[in-house]
Amino acid sequence: GGRRRCRRLEGEAARAVLGAADTLLFDCDGVLWRGEAALGGAAAALGRLAAAGKRLCYVTNNSSRTRQAYGEKLRRLGFPPATPRHVFGSAYCAARFLRQALPPGAAAYVLGGPALAAELREAGVPHLEPGPAALPGPAPADWARAPLDPAVRAVLVGFDEHFSYAKLCQALRYLLRGPDCLLVATNRDHRLPLEGGAAIPGTGCLVKAVETAAEREAFIVGKPNRYMFDCVASEFDIDPARTIMVGDRLDTDILMGNTCGLTTLLTLTGVTTLEEVKGHEESDCPARQSLVPDYYVDSIADLLPALED
Ligand code: PLP
Ligand code: CA
Repeated sequence: GGRRRCRRLEGEAARAVLGAADTLLFDCDGVLWRGEAALGGAAAALGRLAAAGKRLCYVTNNSSRTRQAYGEKLRRLGFPPATPRHVFGSAYCAARFLRQALPPGAAAYVLGGPALAAELREAGVPHLEPGPAALPGPAPADWARAPLDPAVRAVLVGFDEHFSYAKLCQALRYLLRGPDCLLVATNRDHRLPLEGGAAIPGTGCLVKAVETAAEREAFIVGKPNRYMFDCVASEFDIDPARTIMVGDRLDTDILMGNTCGLTTLLTLTGVTTLEEVKGHEESDCPARQSLVPDYYVDSIADLLPALED
């Protein structure tokens, strides 16, 4: 052992750490942008990294956009060109998981939005998009008689603005078919932070509702599960020892990076404060130690001096 220590990444150490890496994995919201606004200096820093020949990949738990849409957002906000192949969103990774896990012809019942459906279509996974109508009666007890599709062998839970009790009923009915019906979810983020301390409920709330009804635990595709990193590693030639995971959240980004043997870099432009890191550093609890990043910066713009030649 020994305790993990988190150091500010600057000066010669910054040159050495960046010089030793050939790949950087970027979390998106809170690291590259907040909502629709790029963070100051972030696009310039990524431009320099790309010019230095680094491979840049994007890993996000947000299931409400496709790989294609992320590529367009990166371009719109002035980041170096990214092909959809370099984007690993939880919608894409969920579709990839189901393509491998489901028997041929089997379908998924989806709680999610259009991006999740689009990634499933792209991956060739048949899926049902539940509409609000077609309920066989006015009372919830009548809904237990709504038609079920015999092809469904998985329930997939992602970010769903139109989550409802009726959908929860259908999900449970499929899952009651037994272990042959998989329960898969994109991510467990509890909240999505907005400006000024406001927040909205994250996908984790919906996952918990389905898990509670079904009395089983979902397989999570997104961070901190290593499945998301495994997707990157199976599509590119990745050496964990030469890869840096950059993120703003300890229990997703940093935990996944530490679990997968990557160098981890926290940015303070998102949801985490240095005080939280200090608290984990001083704890002897292994679970808390695994949340401590190797390095931190106030913002990825702080990497710019180390990228000048
Ligand atoms: N899920 C949803 C629906 C979101 O809108 C966001 C951030 O905007 C996230 C998850 C977290 O995304 P990331 O992993 O890029 O921080
Ligand atoms: Ca984030």
